[in-house]
Amino acid sequence: MSAPRLAHRALRLEIIATARRMNALGINQGKSGNLSHRVPGGFLVTPTGMDYDALEPADIVAMEFDGSHRGPRLPSSEWHFHCDILAARPEANAVVHTHAMFATALACLGREIPAFHYMVAVAGGDSIRCAPYATFGTEALSRHAVSALEGRKACLLANHGMIAVGDTLKAALALAQEVETLAAMYWRALQVGAPNLLDAAEMARVIEKFRTYGQQKVASDPHPPASRVPPSPASGRGASKRRR
Ligand SMILES: [Zn+2]
Repeated sequence: MSAPRLAHRALRLEIIATARRMNALGINQGKSGNLSHRVPGGFLVTPTGMDYDALEPADIVAMEFDGSHRGPRLPSSEWHFHCDILAARPEANAVVHTHAMFATALACLGREIPAFHYMVAVAGGDSIRCAPYATFGTEALSRHAVSALEGRKACLLANHGMIAVGDTLKAALALAQEVETLAAMYWRALQVGAPNLLDAAEMARVIEKFRTYGQQKVASDPHPPASRVPPSPASGRGASKRRR
């Protein structure tokens, strides 16, 4: 007996694999993160409150840009910002949201990540902004996120977490991992003093260089040391995991 036809089955499987990878990389806490990917006429998004390990392709929720959804599951409580980001950013196909430890810690201080390291340019500009706080799942949070992402591919969310976008799930996840690495570096540098910041002209050079080298190379793994997941001080696990 053949299984009932399910639209975008391969993409649903990729969303599930990416969600599990996000947690395996240590850049998310439990069920708190969520992901989406554009499909014709709308997008697919992870369901609310489900353990990633238990997800089946049919659990991924198909939504349209008017907020309507199909299927047996309710969409992520953050479907608003997935919807609005994908609508506002036609060049982006995937949105990854996590509560990564260091990015979230900085966001709880309301701090953006300035140009303390040239890799900040991987997010598209000379800073990774921190969107103002709004209650999770609200349109207000969505508006803040879209605005913080203007001209950028990643942002922090005050007292909440971070968002990374990409043309693929793989690129968005790689960027989320990079943002967390940068947040961890910045956090550590702040323990000692005020980091030296690169000026706008230098960051413009770096951004141009990244453009010349190609998005795919920037998003995939241009600099091995910056792409490692920082060890969690709480767990004491020091082994770095390389993506891919
Ligand atoms: Zn969240």
